Amino acid sequence: MSQAENTRTYQAIIDDATKIIYSHSDSPRIDAEVMLQHAIDKPLAWLIAYGDSVATKEHLISFYQLVALRQQGQPIAYITGHKEFWSLDLTVNKSVLIPRPDTEILVEQALERLASDSPATVLDLGTGSGAIALSIAKERPLDAVLATDSQTSALEVAEQNAQSHQLTNVSFICSDWFSELASQKFDLIASNPPYIEPQDPHLQKGDLRFEPSSALVGAGDGLDDIRNIIKQAPGHLASNGQVLIEHGYNQAEPVNDFFVAAGYKNIVNYRDLNNLPRCTAAEWAG
Ligand code: GLN
Repeated sequence: MSQAENTRTYQAIIDDATKIIYSHSDSPRIDAEVMLQHAIDKPLAWLIAYGDSVATKEHLISFYQLVALRQQGQPIAYITGHKEFWSLDLTVNKSVLIPRPDTEILVEQALERLASDSPATVLDLGTGSGAIALSIAKERPLDAVLATDSQTSALEVAEQNAQSHQLTNVSFICSDWFSELASQKFDLIASNPPYIEPQDPHLQKGDLRFEPSSALVGAGDGLDDIRNIIKQAPGHLASNGQVLIEHGYNQAEPVNDFFVAAGYKNIVNYRDLNNLPRCTAAEWAG
């Protein structure tokens, strides 16, 4: 690295990185700031206070390593190893889907259905980083939450997140949907299963290129896992048990039809932050 480069300030290298990653990100400046904070292990307040000072050589090296990853398209959450969801800072890695703000709608609706003063049992199918299970466990400390995933590498992440947030009312099991659950019954079953069609061109774009396809892609028309869950859930629901499922913006109709065909009632769809149908709830009357 030349002497001239070593005179650049933190603010100047943020400007530089913003240009480098411009065509690889929808929010290049924010990404650059987040990567710098992560690379040098300092909070935003530090950056505001010392942005005009000259960057150390070590900081430059660590920062530009991260910038190179972003330039290759790596998601920010995998680069920093963190993602904020609900009120939780979650550890993430390439074994798990990066939690989306849209999924907070599902959590909100789950909490609507879970009284805070009486214990309930909750199942989160395909928990990934644990986003849904841990948010519910945190907001409803009386509830017993069970989280499944078919991938042990994902469960390791979810368990680590439960530990770092000291959530002791959540447990984990490796299971392909209901396969390892015997006849256990729950008051509420929530899931953000894979639902993207295998041919969907979005899979070749942005963060999705780096996320596990087992968490994104549903077989057939994308809906096989959702079909499966809706069909099998009644065997695992307490009477008047609730199911909440996230789905694609264009899947509300078929998902509604699956619930109707299986005999559920009170089927309601909820929209995400972009006002797109994103989550459907239904009740098992049996
Ligand atoms: N909502 C995610 C996306 O479209 C997909 C998540 C999923 O398949 N469960 O990027």
